[in-house]
Amino acid sequence: MNDYMIKVISESGSLRAYACVTTGVVNEAWSREKPAPLSGMMLGRALSGMALLGGMVKGQEKIWMKFEGNGPIQKIQAECTGVGAVRGSCLNGDVDFDPSVDLKTQIRASVGVGLLTVTKDLGMKEPYSGTVHMISGEIGEDIAFYLTESEQIPSAVAVAAIPSIDGSGVDVAGGWMIQSIPSHGGKAASDESNIESIMAMINSLPPLNKMLADGFTPEQIIAMIFTEIPHKIVETVPLEFKCNCSLKMMVQALKIAGNDEIQSLIDEENGTTVSCQFCKHEYHFSHDELKSIIDVD
Ligand SMILES: [Zn+2]
Repeated sequence: MNDYMIKVISESGSLRAYACVTTGVVNEAWSREKPAPLSGMMLGRALSGMALLGGMVKGQEKIWMKFEGNGPIQKIQAECTGVGAVRGSCLNGDVDFDPSVDLKTQIRASVGVGLLTVTKDLGMKEPYSGTVHMISGEIGEDIAFYLTESEQIPSAVAVAAIPSIDGSGVDVAGGWMIQSIPSHGGKAASDESNIESIMAMINSLPPLNKMLADGFTPEQIIAMIFTEIPHKIVETVPLEFKCNCSLKMMVQALKIAGNDEIQSLIDEENGTTVSCQFCKHEYHFSHDELKSIIDVD
């Protein structure tokens, strides 16, 4: 099954929902990052959350986020465009599960206590950015907290990525996100009851891990959450792992690192190789190429 994200709206317009399957995206990122299972699982959760947030931008608009904490993974970052191009990486991919520690504790400690920053480039002069403290380290709850606190959009988010037994990737990954849209002039009574009914359903849902493992599609997950609330799918966006890195961007990154840094690379043997932090593509620079970068400066 190919990856995709659906956007759903309730008939009254007071609720918006997104659901996605991201197994292929996560496995592509996994094959490039080659992480240990806990790092890979957290990256998978972040990529799934990213695909959901991607539903909030259109076309070539872009949204990205970074989790930075005091845990061993240190940092996870991900990006998504309005057309479903997703990429992501984690700073320390070597964090594995510890069978002697409770799973939830390990998950929460893996990125640790820190900050979540979400930035949107909507083609305006300046990108819009907001930062919150991570409240749980579970990724989904942190994204929901960001949306509720920073963007004033009351939200519930669940993301999951189930590592395969052999550690080569995930068996399945995906997520859902529900948002309450504040209406002009206050909410109608039916909107209030819709939100109550949604909250009751969310609280009684089976764990997302189980739903995904049982083969639930994004459509089925949303149908289950909305139950009696009339709703419709307004858009389906195909998702794929895609990196937009280029030689030009790598030259730019070297320039930002500064002439001293470039000079120290020139002093090494045989030039240098810079690899993209997202897709791991390697760009090689010879001595002469490095010199030309300094010269242009
Ligand atoms: Zn790349």
